[in-house]
Amino acid sequence: MSELKNNHGRFETRAIHAGQESDPQNGAVMTPVYFTSTYKQDAPAKPRQGYEYSRTTNPTRTALEQNLASLESGAWGLCFSSGLAATNALMDRLLPGDHVVAGSDLYGGTYRLFSKVFERYGIRFTYVDTHDVQAVERAIEEKTRYVYLETPTNPLLRISDIAAVAKVAHQKNKLVVVDNTFATPYLQRPLELGADIVLHSLTKYLGGHSDVVAGALIGRDFAIQKELTFFQNAVGGTPGPMDAFLVMRGVKTLALRMERHCLNAQKIAQWLTTEPLVANVIYPGLTSHPHHALAKRQMSGFGGMVSFELKGGVAAADAFASATQIFTLAESLGGVESLVEVPASMTHASIPASIRHAQGLADGLVRLSVGVEHVDDLIDDCKQALAVAQRVGAQKQRV
Ligand SMILES: *Cc1c(COP(=O)(O)O)cnc(C)c1O
Repeated sequence: MSELKNNHGRFETRAIHAGQESDPQNGAVMTPVYFTSTYKQDAPAKPRQGYEYSRTTNPTRTALEQNLASLESGAWGLCFSSGLAATNALMDRLLPGDHVVAGSDLYGGTYRLFSKVFERYGIRFTYVDTHDVQAVERAIEEKTRYVYLETPTNPLLRISDIAAVAKVAHQKNKLVVVDNTFATPYLQRPLELGADIVLHSLTKYLGGHSDVVAGALIGRDFAIQKELTFFQNAVGGTPGPMDAFLVMRGVKTLALRMERHCLNAQKIAQWLTTEPLVANVIYPGLTSHPHHALAKRQMSGFGGMVSFELKGGVAAADAFASATQIFTLAESLGGVESLVEVPASMTHASIPASIRHAQGLADGLVRLSVGVEHVDDLIDDCKQALAVAQRVGAQKQRV
């Protein structure tokens, strides 16, 4: 599996063709969904084309793995039943006493996996603001195995300098893992910047239609691939062929979707800055964003996520999120449809308020996953929801 198939052309071309071939038997242009758990062998222990059992390998999954490897400029890809299953496989390589330097505002589920599962196995974690490269360098210990970061982060959209982090980590022979879920390989390719492994929740932008849960790891070093492949098969958190097919279908339009996500998000972010009820707008594409210059250098677009703070606190944020009609009130992100959520009440409710506030996560924060609907309809929807949030605030003041 070291040779990537159809790994030619530019990003948009590879998104559609890499890893994919018309069916050799009947010419079907789309990769078939190989609904099979097992494969006929020509003789005992002589599987045809290497396929033996579908936990180990399945041709639909192979096509997706090759496709993702190509898009992230990697040499290999491995797919999992969720983003967290991918993170789990990475952690399975570690031994008691090993150490990980991790970003301080990681995806909540990743933090839960680290603190509630792997700490029990004697793996140690130090959380640092990975935007601060010196803090990363200081946190690295002899037994550190990974520097694990997200950029942009969720929901504050802070940016870390992947090349600078990779430089200090590599000086100490440590691997850098970047969760590239928010940016996608269309906007940011961590392996090209020096990272060693890229992780994805394929559930988000790569799937793109909120209809599948899956994850992936992509890298360049075949020794690491060999180890991870062992854990992928031994632990067994692999996606079924239908899930692999759905992600592959989503990826074909990734470039088109990301262009529109970025345009819509930029327009909405700029409009929000003009609204009196909005205290603060967080979007890496705004020049007011503290890491705007770094985002501009590192990414080819600023993504579809926008966060903003309402002056009325959590009551106003909850009122806004309940009043939208096109933006659906839901967790998750990255689909064609727009979603809205209130981190303090929903995705980040399990973090104690004092820690949330120390991280700069205001109670009145609203997070938008801006979809690809017409931007004027999205702005109109936000306008009427802001009016509702304002009435709630005015009522509170009267009480
Ligand atoms: C959703 C998400 C994950 C976890 O992925 P699942 O597919 O839900 O398991 C990891 N990282 C980020 C940044 C995410 O948004």
